[in-house]
Amino acid sequence: MKIKKVDHIGIAVNSIDEAVKLYTSVLGLKVASMEEVPEQKARTAIIPIGETKIELLESTAPDGAIARHIERRGEGLHHIALEVDNVQEMLDVLAGAGIALIDTKPRKGVEGSTIAFIHPKSTKILLEIMEPQK
Ligand code: ZN
Repeated sequence: MKIKKVDHIGIAVNSIDEAVKLYTSVLGLKVASMEEVPEQKARTAIIPIGETKIELLESTAPDGAIARHIERRGEGLHHIALEVDNVQEMLDVLAGAGIALIDTKPRKGVEGSTIAFIHPKSTKILLEIMEPQK
């Protein structure tokens, strides 16, 4: 079991199109991909920055996790994602240590990745662990 790097930082926004303007027109970054992830009721834009990425998240449903997050805390930092070599193995280690999990089984994320969320109760921020598409 190995944590490789911070894969991305997830930011919840009301409007991806508006947020993208800041990152591209003002900051000169490029959007690598835009994708809807039905499992998360969200639309995403991936913006690479060096070794890591920013993942902008806009809700596609009023009852989605992103919509609820913005309702409670406003727009801003949503999660930090760590790349690991094996999501299921990491989940088993965390569960064994009594860490609260949101997902006990890996699910599908953006760009064909496999992801799982760890509950902020234990980690203080919402933590995603992920494996890129093989
Ligand atoms: Zn993410």
